[in-house]
Amino acid sequence: MSRLPAASTVLSFEEARRVVEQQAALIRAIRIQSSKTESVDLLASAGRVLSERVTADRDLPPFPRSTRDGYAVRSADLSALPAILEVIGEIKAGERLDRIPASIAGGQTASIMTGAPVPAGADAVVMVEYTAPLNHRIEGHRVEITRSVAPGENIVPRGAEAREGALLLDRGFRLNPAAIALAASVGKSRLPVYKRPRVAVLTTGDEIVDIEATPGPTQIRNSNSFSLAAQIQQAGGEPLLLPIAPDELQGLRSLIAEGLKSDLLLLTGGVSMGRYDLVEQALSEMQAEFFFTGAKIQPGRPVVFGRCVAETSAVETSAAGTPAGESPATYFFGLPGNPVSTMVTFELFVRPMLEALSGQAPRSLVFLFAQLKQEIRTKIGLQRFLPAILSGEFDHAEVELVPWQGSGDIAAIARSNCYLVVPADRERLAAGEWVAVMKNDC
Ligand code: AMP
Ligand code: MG
Repeated sequence: MSRLPAASTVLSFEEARRVVEQQAALIRAIRIQSSKTESVDLLASAGRVLSERVTADRDLPPFPRSTRDGYAVRSADLSALPAILEVIGEIKAGERLDRIPASIAGGQTASIMTGAPVPAGADAVVMVEYTAPLNHRIEGHRVEITRSVAPGENIVPRGAEAREGALLLDRGFRLNPAAIALAASVGKSRLPVYKRPRVAVLTTGDEIVDIEATPGPTQIRNSNSFSLAAQIQQAGGEPLLLPIAPDELQGLRSLIAEGLKSDLLLLTGGVSMGRYDLVEQALSEMQAEFFFTGAKIQPGRPVVFGRCVAETSAVETSAAGTPAGESPATYFFGLPGNPVSTMVTFELFVRPMLEALSGQAPRSLVFLFAQLKQEIRTKIGLQRFLPAILSGEFDHAEVELVPWQGSGDIAAIARSNCYLVVPADRERLAAGEWVAVMKNDC
């Protein structure tokens, strides 16, 4: 087995992340011009990415809306308390316009419900708690008010949330429950979204067998394709599992060529320094461009990122009208085969690329902070993302490492709900210290 001398580029975590983000921004600009779109039912739109903007079809709210049950008043009438006002009507939510008092004059009020339109003349609503209707047989329809209100209090003016035609949701927004509610509020029962990017998953290794097969004594089942498929789906992609590639160049190359026909190719295994780690060599022989061949992280140090022209898809893509000068190359990641490394490197590097391919606007990597339960000692030089358990609630977030046997320990990561981030320059984190944490269980 000979290895081609591929130039090695090992970056710090942050450098590597920036490189991915830069490429993601480039690919997103191309994707939002050229991606195919489809229309989905609003009920099936969660997690999809909008391909067109959603605007307000009318002012929101469409009328000055009362936010309380109470009385619509002219605030100036309440300068002396208690004030007695004449009740000229009752306005419930959804009341027809012709049943609403045309105007509230000085000394008058109307009882009003939450969500009902505030009549002209009134400039505030007093909560029902600060009012007492008088006995109308003696007093007529009158109410006593015991608290004053500022002008505008308990009213949302017409158009205050959005003016007709205003942008509510931009292209590239990944639909969450709030965005779906907003789309519903402007009558969108279907939404235009980008088609999901197809992500090929290519597991490598002579020892890896399909999960349906009975493994021999030294074989192990392919779990990485399944964790990756789940992560791809969560990030908005559609996984395509390729057959397991052998640790042999020819077979590996032909499966890589197959994978490069997708929108993104993820390889697992075969990127370390072993004699049978042939992924980089196979890709170099296929004229791949490498952005990095390692990152100073643990687990996941041998992670590889690059792009490579897919022989057949080059023709297809240019036939489909790729603008001159733009590369039809397919991006790929070579993820280390150890199952925890595979999952961590997906979260750190693949996710932003996949989100860009799905048309999503970029998001930054956000860490939570929690108090460390027990001291941690490590060696400096690598930024670590260690499986851990985040517990406690409110302002008592605590975190502790899950005992593990290293990055092959799938049982340990399944017990974890986050990664504890240990900066590359820290030898020791003290118990009680606030440390960064990245959730991994959603
Ligand atoms: P490699 O990166 O190829 O050196 O693999 C590192 C370790 O991960 C080895 O112990 C492999 O057996 C294991 N491994 C590689 N691929 C998979 C996979 N698809 N599923 C589970 N374990 C794997
Ligand atoms: Mg291997």
